[in-house]
Amino acid sequence: MTRWLTEYAWLPEHPEPTPDVLIEATGGRITGITPLAAESRPTAGVEVLADAVRLPGLTLPGLANTHSHAFHRALRGRTHGGRGDFWTWRDRMYEVATRLDPDSYLALARAAYAEMALAGITCVGEFHYLHHGPDGTPYADPNAMGSALVEAAAQAGIRLTLLDACYLTATVAGDPLVGPQRRFGDGDAHRWAERAAAFAPTGAHLRVGAAIHSVRAVPADQLATVAASANDRDVPLHAHLSEQPAENDACRAEHGCTPTRLLADRGALGQHTTVVHATHPTSSDITVLGDSRTRVCLCPTTERDLADGIGPARRMANAGSALSLGSDSHAVVDLFEEARAVELDERLRTRQRGHFTAGELVTAATVAGHVALGWGDAGRLAVGDRADLVTVRLDSPRTAGVPAAGAFFAATAADVSQVVVDGQVVVRDGRHQMVDVPAELATSIAEVTGTP
Ligand SMILES: [Zn+2]
Repeated sequence: MTRWLTEYAWLPEHPEPTPDVLIEATGGRITGITPLAAESRPTAGVEVLADAVRLPGLTLPGLANTHSHAFHRALRGRTHGGRGDFWTWRDRMYEVATRLDPDSYLALARAAYAEMALAGITCVGEFHYLHHGPDGTPYADPNAMGSALVEAAAQAGIRLTLLDACYLTATVAGDPLVGPQRRFGDGDAHRWAERAAAFAPTGAHLRVGAAIHSVRAVPADQLATVAASANDRDVPLHAHLSEQPAENDACRAEHGCTPTRLLADRGALGQHTTVVHATHPTSSDITVLGDSRTRVCLCPTTERDLADGIGPARRMANAGSALSLGSDSHAVVDLFEEARAVELDERLRTRQRGHFTAGELVTAATVAGHVALGWGDAGRLAVGDRADLVTVRLDSPRTAGVPAAGAFFAATAADVSQVVVDGQVVVRDGRHQMVDVPAELATSIAEVTGTP
């Protein structure tokens, strides 16, 4: 058994952190949560506390990064200057996609996931569509690229839900994949489903899921095939949704309805579905998503970077959609920043403060993301849950003098001091225990961008 004595711990359903909590774990599971309030401290026993590892600062459950494209990490700082929009950014992204093979993908993803571990992320949802060779020809193992991601997460010490994305067409009108897009495609949804269902890697750190890349990339008459494949395998289904007004316009022109309506009509929404972005839903879309308990993953730093706009987060949450968070393009890997952006973006839009409580933001960054990724037993400091602990310093230049309850509005990823995943220490004193993260990022990115 391992025991930790936290200075503060954020317990489930609590509006703010609890001081002096003893957390016990055995075999990667939390077996005891004991707040040592003044009145109960004497009963805890001196010998129990003597062998407890002290965790100064604020300890949170593991953070879940619900939406990632690992290879986009290579674009950080390369696309932010100058003009352009989502579509010009996408062209740059395709240049990197063209260069990757299973070996370079493993190296880049391992470094990107290790950066996530340093940021307190214990579980990542990888929205994976780089399936085949550059000209679209499958590798000898048609899931070689997925296997590289599975191995990368294992080596970085975090859990992974591999969301295998169906990506068949270039436009809502059904134009074929061309150029760099060819490696994304399986031909049709049945062939995608066969390949995805045949991928059964083992590992306690791994789950699989399915994804509809978007209504741009999966024809309307094949959406139900993807949804049924996820449903039959009882795995999560994710989909990019209404990131851009142009997607809504194209969908209306082709199908006479919004992307949300199209997904609903093809059986692709529900409590096991997470839609990503939902930046431009209509009022009726918000009702459809909420009534079906479809989950929404917001990626505020990416939506900011790509000039997408601000999604109606509060309205979607009020309608019944649980919110989670993703770093998506990895322009920033910092779930504290993603979480507070949900509140701060609402402030910019409404010119009013106070839309989300700190507890709601913690929920979005932790348990809601884990549930969206199929891990119903993670994301809470609770007996029986996975022993994922993320400790944030309260004595850094950013957090000194900040009350523990305010840490989500002050801390950055750089303030994460220790990360425990399934009972194992992955980050100690701010250092990854297995990966030299800056060195591996530099090397792996230089290889796939062709620049030092
Ligand atoms: Zn994405």
